[in-house]
Amino acid sequence: MTGNGRTVEKRLLKPLLIVISAPSGAGKTTLCDRLLQDYPELTYSVSCTTRKPRGEEEDGVDYHFMTDAQFDRLVKAHRFLEHAKVHGFQYGTLSAPVREAMAEGQSVLMDIDVAGAAQIREKVAALEENDPLRRGFLDIFVRPPSLEALRERMEARGEDNAETIERRMRNASRELARSGEFRYALVNDNLDIAYRELCAIIEHAGGVMA
Ligand code: 5GP
Repeated sequence: MTGNGRTVEKRLLKPLLIVISAPSGAGKTTLCDRLLQDYPELTYSVSCTTRKPRGEEEDGVDYHFMTDAQFDRLVKAHRFLEHAKVHGFQYGTLSAPVREAMAEGQSVLMDIDVAGAAQIREKVAALEENDPLRRGFLDIFVRPPSLEALRERMEARGEDNAETIERRMRNASRELARSGEFRYALVNDNLDIAYRELCAIIEHAGGVMA
């Protein structure tokens, strides 16, 4: 740990499959970006989605953007580790890149919703005990300090209109009600403290070599 509280270039001894879920606005993206900077062998799982790109998002980097027909073909071909409908669009994680990264000893970081996390939890529990996905599975829920704080953050961000904020708030309540399904839950009240907690959870599960 450095003086400013950031971890630097730490290596995990065991490949992890880190699943992080949180309501929109809970600060999950910032936490994930910091993890990707500090843990060099952590790969971000790029999801498929049928929603349109926002802002500066790039195809193949932020998401694999696709049509409903393309998404449905992948579902039929059993290519997804999990998939779910979120805010009216389809989202899914392809199995092959996750398996390939973990076979090479890398850890995988996923930012998915609670329904997707539940599917993966169920799937890994049915795998052989020594399967890398089962051995490395780690699910973490990030809570906002309160629903009111979440609304304030979304309003301050200024990216969404009132209707979208209402829909996200309804979704947030549903997601929060399922946070108990996760092995770990942390509150993101202060970003630096939440990040330190997150690193501690990961390093406890993965073992670490500075
Ligand atoms: P956004 O459209 O704002 O990027 O993401 C909306 C929600 O979809 C977030 O809660 C995010 O975690 C979730 N999400 C992103 N990718 C996936 C995925 O591959 N599977 C599932 N189940 N949810 C996802």
